[in-house]
This record gives sequence, C-alpha cells and structure tokens, in this order.
Amino acid sequence: MEASIFERLESEVRSYIRSFPAVFCQASGSWMTDETGRRYLDFFSGAGTLNYGHNHPALKDKLLTYLAHDGIVHGLDMATGAKRDFIETFERLILKPRKLEYKLQFTGPTGTNAVEAALKLARQVKDRSTVLCFTNGFHGVTGGSVAATGSRKFREAVGTPLSHTRFMPFSNYFGRDADTLAMIERQLTDPGSGLDRPAAVLLETIQGEGGINTASANWLRGLAAMCKRHDILLIVDDIQMGCGRTGTFFSFEEAGITPDIVTLSKSLSGYGLPMAIVLMKPELDIWKPSAHNGTFRGNNAAFVTATAALREFWSDGRFAEEVRDKGRHLQARLERLRLRHPLIKAVRGRGLVAGLALESGAQADAVSEHCFRQGLIIETCGPQGEVVKLLPPLTTTAAEIEQGLVLLDGALAAVGRDDSLRQLRRAVA
Ligand code: PLP
Repeated sequence: MEASIFERLESEVRSYIRSFPAVFCQASGSWMTDETGRRYLDFFSGAGTLNYGHNHPALKDKLLTYLAHDGIVHGLDMATGAKRDFIETFERLILKPRKLEYKLQFTGPTGTNAVEAALKLARQVKDRSTVLCFTNGFHGVTGGSVAATGSRKFREAVGTPLSHTRFMPFSNYFGRDADTLAMIERQLTDPGSGLDRPAAVLLETIQGEGGINTASANWLRGLAAMCKRHDILLIVDDIQMGCGRTGTFFSFEEAGITPDIVTLSKSLSGYGLPMAIVLMKPELDIWKPSAHNGTFRGNNAAFVTATAALREFWSDGRFAEEVRDKGRHLQARLERLRLRHPLIKAVRGRGLVAGLALESGAQADAVSEHCFRQGLIIETCGPQGEVVKLLPPLTTTAAEIEQGLVLLDGALAAVGRDDSLRQLRRAVA
C-alpha cells in the first residue's frame, strides 16, 4: 500500500500522529471526528490546550464576530483593543480576586518561549546563572527550557551540552518517606555541596509529561519558604496545569503560595490558538525594551478567545467548583478500577488530571492503542511512558467521563488478559 502523504513527506519527528492514526476533520466539545465520520472521545485535549473543549460556541462566536469586522489579527506587540480587553479582564477576573499583583509579559506564543523568558528574567534579576529544576520536570524543547527538562529523549536531541541548571529530587521522587526538601536545603546551606547559588527554582506543581507526579501543598509551601530564606526566585510553570486543570485557575492556589514568576500558555487562549504569557511580580520587571522579542507576541485572535474564555468560565467560582466535583468523582472511579486491574500500580492526580501508573511503557501503550481502537483518545506519560494520562476537557460531562472510563476499563482488562496469557505461555515453555 502506498505510504500516506504524512509518512512520505512529513519528518520522522512526527509524534502524536503515530499514536492516533486517523485523519481528523472536525471537532466539537469533547469529540473529534475523522474523515470517515468516526467519532472519538477526546481525553487528551490537545495536551491540555483545550480545557474548554473544541470550538466552544461562546468563544467561537466572539472570534467569528471579530474576524467579520476585520479586527487586527497580527499586531506584533502594538496596543490593540483586543489586547486591552484581555489585560483588563485578566486583572479583573483572575488577579484581583486572588489578590495577586503581577505584570504581564506577552512572549512568543508557545509555552517554551514563556519559559525561556522567565528563565532569562530570573537570571537577570539575581545576576546568577544556575536554576534549580526537578527530576521528571518538562518545560519545553528549546535551549533554556530543555536544559531544565529531565527527559533524556529531549536532552539528547539537542546536540550541545545543556548547562546552568541543576536537577533536584521532586516531591516523593525517593518515595514517601524521603524528605527531598531537606536534601535541597542541605545542598543550599553546605558550602561544600558544589552547588552554585541559584537564581531561581523552576517547577510544575503537578508534573504533566513526567508522570502526573503531584507535589503536596505542604511540600510546595516548604519550597516557597526555602526560596525566600535563600533569596531565590520561585517560578511556577503552569503551562499545562494552569487555567483550571487542577480545580483552581492557578495550580498553586491550593497551597496558598505566591510564586515570583508564573508561565501560562496552552489553555490560556481557550480555543487552541497559540498564546503565552509570563506573570512577574512588578519589582522584577527589569526588562529593557524589546530585550525578549518575537514576531508573534500579538496573536489578537487568541486575545479575543482568551477574554471570552475568562468571561464565560471565570466570572464566578461555579466552574472551578464543577471541575473539583468532577475531579473527585474521577479519582474515586479510578481507585475502583485499580482494585479491579492488578496492572494499575497507582492512581495519581488532582482535579481533572489523572494518571494510572502501570508496570511498563509497553502496557500503557497497549492500553492507549486499545482505547483508540474503541474510540477514546488517551495519551501516556512518565519517564518510561508507563503512565496512562487522563486529561479530558474540563467541560466534559459526567456522562462522557463515564463513557471514557468504560472504554478504559475494557482496554485495561484486554491488556491484563494479554499479559496473563504471555506469562502463562512463558511458564509452560
Ligand atoms: N511547560 C510545561 C509544563 C508543558 O507541559 C509544556 C508542554 O507540554 C511546555 C512547557 C512547553 O510548551 P510548548 O509545547 O507550547 O512549547
């Protein structure tokens, strides 16, 4: 059979297209449709970019009206009405109610560009180069962000030494009994540790790509206090776990900490349109004009949908409450699955992000494949790809979540059966 145009002409770097081999044409809410008309329930949400689902009507209406009136689409970083609306709405609905004082930096529209900007800024402010980051953290694949990313696959692809970062053990990296904060503290205080004084600590509160590893609120508070004691900036990368994913707008709200710098992207535009920002405490804004530049810092179509998303979902606390409710239900259902399927070693997550840690990457791949064949899009993560990751749109209904869980249950049963058969054959041989 002739190879598809994707296989013939698109680079081998292709990734998700390999796990989900269909040609998609339409999408609405939590559903994607391929060109044969087959529908798939989306438990991946564009890697956390579609928290409000595909083509949400309230956002689409605003975007269509804006385009119909020849609104500015590309604006460099010039002032536009759409940008002003976004900043005003963000201040009114997100910053003020949380008593947060941040200035906003619009970076190039990818998450990694926001991380690059955050790292540059922290290093300038403190005039130090080292940044502490964490085992299994993921922050992007460009020079500075990949240096702070744990995964060997991404690091080896760079081809030059990655420097000016030091990896520390994340919460629970050495098991529940090991106090990883004490390990970091010891290295910061011991003049013989070989650790240069860092400018900043960069982390995700729940590691999305690294396996849905959840830092406890206590651990986060301890880390924030340690940063203060040692005059180190705290940067929370909320690119995947922000915008409501964990049941609050920012993932760090539960811990009651206030990072010095925050990065946001993915679901910020709410519609899948590229957009990224850095939030910084006002006194840290020592940027010289245009020192972190970029042609696509003014995706005004994204500003329009971002503003619409804030108004639609964050005008009061109801949406966040719904996400927390659905999240609690999801976690409870997954715990029940764990009791039924011995291949599940642990259930992880909070809000509407969850991970099922299996024994191997091969098992998790097989579960994802089975699910896809039955019409459920679900990805894997973790250092060995051993965690099945649930990241449905936050707007997914309880009935849709149940529908997805039934398919997942079936896939786990099938993979468990295949595994038992394989073991039996090995024992007989
Ligand atoms: N930071 C986190 C926590 C992420 O999850 C990602 C992407 O998955 C990034 C940064 C990089 O974002 P982008 O792929 O848009 O560059």
